Amino acid sequence: MKLTLSEAAAMLAHANKVVITAHENPDGDAVGSSLGLMHILHGMGKEAVVLLDDDIPAIFKVLPGYDIIGKPEEGQASVEADLLVILDTAPNRIGRVPEVTKAGTVLNIDHHRTNNGAAEYTYVDDTRAATAEIVYDLAKELGAVFTREPAMCIYTGLATDSGFFRFSNTTPHTMRAAAEMLECGVTANEISEALEEKPYQVVKDTAEAVNMAERFADGRAIGIFLDEATTARMEATEGFIGAIRVVEGVDVAVVLKAKEEKLCRVSMRSKGVDVSAIALSFGGGGHIRAAGCTLSMPFAEAKKTICTAIEQAIRDLQQAAVHKAGMSGEGH
Ligand code: 5GP
Ligand code: MN
Repeated sequence: MKLTLSEAAAMLAHANKVVITAHENPDGDAVGSSLGLMHILHGMGKEAVVLLDDDIPAIFKVLPGYDIIGKPEEGQASVEADLLVILDTAPNRIGRVPEVTKAGTVLNIDHHRTNNGAAEYTYVDDTRAATAEIVYDLAKELGAVFTREPAMCIYTGLATDSGFFRFSNTTPHTMRAAAEMLECGVTANEISEALEEKPYQVVKDTAEAVNMAERFADGRAIGIFLDEATTARMEATEGFIGAIRVVEGVDVAVVLKAKEEKLCRVSMRSKGVDVSAIALSFGGGGHIRAAGCTLSMPFAEAKKTICTAIEQAIRDLQQAAVHKAGMSGEGH
């Protein structure tokens, strides 16, 4: 069932014991919105824990509460709660969290337009740059007080999902929320320096990956395609797509990683094409300009499949532009 912001806030207000989770392969918004909500609820005198079914990258140690994030263990006793809150994803990417949580009610809060609404209660606002921005909205609705602890976490979610306030999803509301977090004691450079820091080998791997980049679709697309052996050798690949999306003339950037013999992960970024539609057509999702999916096929087939889909989407967009220009030219 779809909720309004005030209905979602009321559910939080009525719960006393809350388990918070977010998507596997957690990013700054997943970790930041989860810990941010946890601190807000603690400030309201409630019990709240964060459970994420994945390892949390060490760069997020800068966030207050990093050390108390729990991970579901095989055969562990179930955690009882009034409410399970799922952040920054639909309920299908949270691993074993539902198996170890006995919650009366499930509330899903997300900013992805592709959210499938499968949770018992869902609040989606795809105009928000980050789920952390919705956590900010909810905290405001609840009249919560922002101390430095939630502010650091919410700021991190806002900053990371908006590319540090540069992407098209950045709105005046995003920046006002961030400004308020700064007023609550956030030190912006402490967060950016922690998040930007990379091991030496990761910088070398990025150079190698950028060297492998191939342009296609007449230079309107660019991709890094990592076979299984290369993927296994490279530790952190998150930065690769940012390094190639800047190439002149490129609309769509893609990174494909073969994880197993018949399992490839795809990340896409765009300037015009709706990559969430491409991702959705393969069972994934995301935003218009940032999306991902998993292809259950061998490396070579996955590469061909995703390149063909991207080429087609670029052609469709060009044709639509020509059509529009033709229409507007009529009668002049
Ligand atoms: P990234 O490329 O950074 O992994 O993901 C870009 C965006 O697409 C993020 O907002 C992420 O949540 C979403 N996304 C990535 N992969 C998937 C997927 O397999 N399924 C869905 N639903 N969303 C995804
Ligand atoms: Mn997000």
